[in-house]
Amino acid sequence: MKKIFVIGAAGQIGTDLTLKLNELFGVDNVIIADIREPNREIVPNNVFEKLDVLDLERVKEVVTRYKITDIYHLAAILSGNAELNPRFAWHLNMDGFFNVLNVAKDNGVCKVFWPSSIAAFGPNSRKQNTPQFDVMNPNTVYGISKVSGELWAQYYFEKYGLDIRSLRYPGLISYKAEAGGGTTDYAVEIFYDAIKKGSYTSFLDKGTTLPMMYMDDAIRATIELMEADKEKIKIRTSYNVAAISFAPEELAAEIKKHIPDFEINYKPDFRQKIAESWPQSIDDSRARSDWGWKHEYDLSKMTEVMLKEIEKKIKHKV
Ligand code: NAD
Repeated sequence: MKKIFVIGAAGQIGTDLTLKLNELFGVDNVIIADIREPNREIVPNNVFEKLDVLDLERVKEVVTRYKITDIYHLAAILSGNAELNPRFAWHLNMDGFFNVLNVAKDNGVCKVFWPSSIAAFGPNSRKQNTPQFDVMNPNTVYGISKVSGELWAQYYFEKYGLDIRSLRYPGLISYKAEAGGGTTDYAVEIFYDAIKKGSYTSFLDKGTTLPMMYMDDAIRATIELMEADKEKIKIRTSYNVAAISFAPEELAAEIKKHIPDFEINYKPDFRQKIAESWPQSIDDSRARSDWGWKHEYDLSKMTEVMLKEIEKKIKHKV
């Protein structure tokens, strides 16, 4: 019997992932944990364990108590916030991950998922169609933690046989939970401001193209990777996955099709430099050929769903 443990479950990905895992494996088999309370309106029935992933004994206690088989480890500090507190970001992103790796290895956990990011690439990586294997010299603390984590994942697989699987997520766009302080958060904020104010000031400049993905695609990629036969998983650092690439003005043009008076302005901040060090589009052919990855949402389908769902959410709150 599968017993799943989602760490960092109250966040942007954890919220959607928990709901999908509940649907597929049953709410009783999905234990969620976070350092803060999850939104109980969204996930009312999951067993919740409040924990700090830096507390090794607590992680071990939960894993053994529920006889956990699969861990999804999502607790981290994201790119924008990590630059504001580099030392702590390194501590949480690496030591939290080591705790999960070691508890999994020593307590019979079958599978672990840990996300990397396009931030693992750096200024010398190819910008267009960035290949699976390329120069990786990230110059952000977040990117350094992701590229290091990828190598540790591969090490634990090769040295200890731990079945750990990973994706390099692009910027993720969703409406259920708030975005967690990343460089691509503008592509979520823009929808709220478009509906509430009819205008948005972007912290990334015009022309800043980045790889993005609608959350439903990201969750499907995650679960398909975790459920794929072990022999199909040929890459044990982290797989490139991709869906859409766009710049702020292209997203704004798509929103304008629904809200004709919508206006976008630009006031780039420190995140502009981070974005410029990242790929603009990603070659994910290995994910497609190894375990059958295929995205479903393009820019127009994603924009339509986001506007519709956020409008409902805003109306529901007032
Ligand atoms: P998020 O910030 O929304 O969620 C992270 C969650 O971890 C939060 O709920 C937070 O409370 C929790 N957390 C923080 N410190 C903790 C601790 N010490 N112990 C337990 N929980 C703790 O982030 P997210 O967007 O859901 O990202 C999840 C993972 O996916 C991260 O590893 C992130 O780097 C990766 N990722 C996200 C994106 C994206 O666009 N969202 C893109 C690439 C990679």
